[in-house]
Amino acid sequence: MSRSAHPAGPRHADVLTEGHYSAPPADLNALDPKVWAHTVSRTDDGVVRVGGIEVTRLAEEFGTPAYFMDEADFRERARAWRTAFGHDADVFYAGKAFLSRAIVRWLHEEGLNLDVCSGGELATALSAGMPADRIAFHGNNKSAVEITAAIESGVGRIVLDSFQEIVRVAHIAQSLGKRQRVQIRVTVGVEAHTHEFIATAHEDQKFGIALADGQAAEAVRRALSLDGLELVGIHSHIGSQIFDMAGFEVAARRVVSLLAAVRDEHGVELPEIDLGGGLGIAYTSDDDPREPHEIAKALGEIVTRECEAAKLRTPRISVEPGRAIVGPTAFTLYEVGTIKPLDGLRTYVSVDGGMSDNIRTALYDAEYSVALVSRTSDAEPMLVRVVGKHCESGDIVVKDAFLPSDLAPGDLIAVPATGAYCRSMASNYNHALRPPVVAVRDGEARVIVRRETEEDLLRLDVG
Ligand SMILES: *Cc1c(COP(=O)(O)O)cnc(C)c1O
Repeated sequence: MSRSAHPAGPRHADVLTEGHYSAPPADLNALDPKVWAHTVSRTDDGVVRVGGIEVTRLAEEFGTPAYFMDEADFRERARAWRTAFGHDADVFYAGKAFLSRAIVRWLHEEGLNLDVCSGGELATALSAGMPADRIAFHGNNKSAVEITAAIESGVGRIVLDSFQEIVRVAHIAQSLGKRQRVQIRVTVGVEAHTHEFIATAHEDQKFGIALADGQAAEAVRRALSLDGLELVGIHSHIGSQIFDMAGFEVAARRVVSLLAAVRDEHGVELPEIDLGGGLGIAYTSDDDPREPHEIAKALGEIVTRECEAAKLRTPRISVEPGRAIVGPTAFTLYEVGTIKPLDGLRTYVSVDGGMSDNIRTALYDAEYSVALVSRTSDAEPMLVRVVGKHCESGDIVVKDAFLPSDLAPGDLIAVPATGAYCRSMASNYNHALRPPVVAVRDGEARVIVRRETEEDLLRLDVG
């Protein structure tokens, strides 16, 4: 069982009794390629570099905290998904994981499509030149303004999430003289093996329309009856940070049985199914994610088999990975500020960021790793908790890890696998200035989202 499958409590379980990190790793200077971006390595003098640039230089030029993203790695992962799914399937990158105009351009160049779930994400995508027909619009409570913007721009599909929305989207499309391509999001009753706050396909939740009691079949009936809608498929997203394909298998089987029921009732074979995102990545060396080609093969086989059994033409499959593409490509670089050893417990290492740049540890009890990156050390390992500078004792970045015992203020440490759901969930708590995202590639570093300034903060404060 993956550690992320543990229930929420106890929130701050003692690592020594839980035992995950009761033994330090053999070599504290080693960088596990599972959790670090592809071009990350140590130079001969011990400094870590990414994209050919030392982190010490990056810190000098861009400051800390900051996210550094390995552009080559991002493109490779995007391409690996695209290639694995081939021409009979579509890969939609889930923009909520992290979105900026540079990301949109990279996705466009690598042949991926894009999921957005707000007017802001849609505006970002369109402003960077993503063709609207390659954009899917999601969300459980899209506003009339957002729906109008999506339809007017010509998005490829809107994923309908409720009975009200079926009518709302149909009405707006019709008033604009358009027929909007839509999918219906269903909940298939699968509880993905993940933290309960991010599991989304069980029925007691806000997303989707339940398959179980005939609600989804009723939603299809209504969507087919409305002139403003062209119903093209069924959508299912079962959760996030999932390692086990069994949940996708059950979801695919149930979605295909709905397609068969729709064919039997309406004589219509819906041409698309979307199996969502949620594929897990390695946050620590204990996680073992699947490769895109394994996932593509498994999903393709399940859908083909189920469709053959139901005598349906195999629909066009789409998937929506967010974390699995962007997550591993970035790390957060921090400078160590204060170090507080607590006898018999652990040592608290405070950094110059915290829950404002990585809320996942506080929100999901997420696990992260950490390494000293500005030098190597042969000192003994010490058990640490990496914490931020916010006025909150839950302001934890890395719950339990080992760092060398000669760690000192001014050292640079980095937390890998922070490309997804860190900058995109960043806040201004304590009026923190949100860190920049810097893309690094072939010896060149380029800011793609700049650091916030005090002027940015004060500009919004118009009282
Ligand atoms: C969040 C989300 C995704 C992406 O999830 P990841 O865990 O980042 O892969 C895909 N589809 C939908 C509908 C989502 O809500």
